[in-house]
Amino acid sequence: MSTTLLSTQDLAINGGTPVRATFLPYGRQAVEESDIAAVVEVLRSDWLTTGPKVAEFEEAFAARVHAKHAVSFTSGTAALHAAAFAADLKPGDEAITTPLTFAATANCVLYQGATPVFADVSADTLNLDPEQAAARISPRTRAILPVDYAGHPAEMAPIMEIARRHGLIVIEDACHALGAEYRGSRVGSIADMTVFSFHPVKHITTGEGGMVTSNDAKFAETLRRFRNHGISSDARQRQTAGQWHYEMVLLGFNYRLPDFACALGREQLKRLDSNLSRRREIAAAYSDAFRETPGVIPPAVRDEVHPTWHLYPIRLDLEKLTADRAQIFRSLRAENIGVNVHYIPVHYHPYYRERFGSRLGEFPVAENAYERLISLPMFHAMTDGDVSDVVHAVRKVVGCYAK
Ligand SMILES: *Cc1c(COP(=O)(O)O)cnc(C)c1O
Repeated sequence: MSTTLLSTQDLAINGGTPVRATFLPYGRQAVEESDIAAVVEVLRSDWLTTGPKVAEFEEAFAARVHAKHAVSFTSGTAALHAAAFAADLKPGDEAITTPLTFAATANCVLYQGATPVFADVSADTLNLDPEQAAARISPRTRAILPVDYAGHPAEMAPIMEIARRHGLIVIEDACHALGAEYRGSRVGSIADMTVFSFHPVKHITTGEGGMVTSNDAKFAETLRRFRNHGISSDARQRQTAGQWHYEMVLLGFNYRLPDFACALGREQLKRLDSNLSRRREIAAAYSDAFRETPGVIPPAVRDEVHPTWHLYPIRLDLEKLTADRAQIFRSLRAENIGVNVHYIPVHYHPYYRERFGSRLGEFPVAENAYERLISLPMFHAMTDGDVSDVVHAVRKVVGCYAK
């Protein structure tokens, strides 16, 4: 490719021709006719909310991730809230998590009146650094919430070991990592509770939706009650048994995922394997291209994992470039490449700054990464043409800003 001959004049941001005529988003759902048929079938049935599809989806999901139990929720955030409740987080308690995540991971700790304590990430994977997490343990710590950033599983063995030693509960935020594996175990079967999201940009979608998996029957029972007002049996069970009686045993919410959403999730789950292999193909094509692109650092993959590429976050080697991340981001957007940034560190948000007085500079690895990160488009319905447009645009933009 002759991009080395291009000058900044050729960039779309300066009036040049964009690499693509149409905008390519960073993530997007794929809904097929069989999905639509499954949803329509439920709409014509007797059960719009909790019906047979809920259990069907949950059982198939638990089997897929090798967990004993799976409990569905109206969103990944509701699922996180439920897991924080089941972990018995209370005012005065602390839970350790990564700053390089979506705010919901830390917010679920606040919902319970407990305090999120951030710990820095490892420089290669940008996942919670087990040593940093261990260093933040206090007598008030009750839980650790690692995040499988971009779909690369967190360092679960040392994290589980630290947790066991200190009597802590591990809630793994695997919203990026459905289908991923760590040391031969499936994500969803490793932590005390593992949380997934079915937002349209994630690996499978139910519109909005989420799931908690666990191998612990006690956690599963609490999670089921929590999503249904704290009531100990659901309406369908009561109807089947012809009973009017129910008991509210804890203060829960209405976080029930409707039957038609579960029907959609069940269909989508059938295509998970093909979705994942397409994402792996795209990631391999990107990594091959960017290994040889000065100014671009492709994401690292450790030997012990099988990641699932919810995101493909490159880091800019700013020392080799004349532009900063903001300029490169704007330039790529002008080329019609829907880049994004994951994430603004949670402690940067005004709410966290004001409430906890968080300071910049506290988490140097996460903060340094944040200045350099750009997520490239990554979704299974991308065509080979889309992939080569992204490669072309990144080389064009980074090439024009090379020192
Ligand atoms: C998507 C996501 C969530 C929240 O999921 P919703 O279903 O959108 O509520 C939480 N944590 C992470 C890391 C996510 O990517």
